[in-house]
Amino acid sequence: MKRRIAILGSTGSIGTQTLDVIRQHPDLFEVELISARRSVDLLVSQAREFNAANVVICDESAYDAVSARLSDTDCKVWAGVDSLCQLVKGEQVDIVVGAMVGFSGLRPTLAALEAGKIVALANKETLVAAGELVTRTMREHNAVILPVDSEHSAIFQCLLAAQGNELTRIHLTASGGPFRTWERDRIATAKAADALKHPNWDMGSKVTIDSATMMNKGFEVIEAKWLFDVKPSDIHVVVHPESVVHSMVEFVDGAVIAQLGCPDMREPIGFALSFPQRITVGNRKLDFAALGSLSFQDPDLDRFPNLRLAYEAIERGGNAPCALNAANEVAVAAYLKDRISFYDISRINEKCLAGLNFAAQPSLEDIFETNNEIAAIANGYID
Ligand code: MG
Repeated sequence: MKRRIAILGSTGSIGTQTLDVIRQHPDLFEVELISARRSVDLLVSQAREFNAANVVICDESAYDAVSARLSDTDCKVWAGVDSLCQLVKGEQVDIVVGAMVGFSGLRPTLAALEAGKIVALANKETLVAAGELVTRTMREHNAVILPVDSEHSAIFQCLLAAQGNELTRIHLTASGGPFRTWERDRIATAKAADALKHPNWDMGSKVTIDSATMMNKGFEVIEAKWLFDVKPSDIHVVVHPESVVHSMVEFVDGAVIAQLGCPDMREPIGFALSFPQRITVGNRKLDFAALGSLSFQDPDLDRFPNLRLAYEAIERGGNAPCALNAANEVAVAAYLKDRISFYDISRINEKCLAGLNFAAQPSLEDIFETNNEIAAIANGYID
């Protein structure tokens, strides 16, 4: 039986790399659903190549264009996020790949979990904004979240060696991003174009900026807390510029299990799609002699204050991580347009966290309200 895949966000970096893995294994997978926000051309060509049963364009104004261009195919075309939330629950879907960008992925991910699906989750903001709610929904509906984020896939793989032993610490590796070796003054003047030159990983623009500010690593600490039920203080970020060790877990006896590989997102994507089997994904293999050595260092919270803010937000709990994510989405969008400076991102994030209307046990409504309120406040700091 082929696994039938729904890809939320098929035209982004994770989406296209997911389709590349599927392209290599037509005997194992078929594409049940693809969706995009507004990338009409790529969505249409993906629908044709993979003969997707359902095609969703989230921007409703682009529906006519997509529909007209697929009128000679068997693909059913839908518009809007509500359609997406309905379709991911369908019986024809085995695995939902959550690859939408930011907070927008929350509702469709929750819908998939409510239907008891396997969710291969790349969209970390879903767990940052509503980790308690998302993991509770998963448990209540016997759904499964398989991590696609490379660090969390690594931790998941390391834990396969745990044999029931609890881990004592996670060592979450960070490339350090493009500004790892820059002085603070130079970082302060860096433009989005500089930040978008990521040394190791091929990613979308939002996560690449988050990587430059280390917000991405902060969000990954929060993501790891929810996925693996670990205290934030037991999640230790270590800068590892080569991005070869994808993360590690430590046990009570001091033994550390690491997962290594060339940095290529198709590896964690392939593992989530084919779990527990392993499949080829077309990546390079490690050559240890050519690598020579691997290096590790502590992160610098002075040059990268977003990482500190993430620890503060998750220690505070409730809707604080949601607020941090909402502020950061607005700030990163403004930075990408060169409207604010690099350290304005963390300044806006810090001010929004400080002014938060705190809710200790936020409902889904509270989460949406926090997201909207904080986005408005953050926008106020930009104009
Ligand atoms: Mg990652």
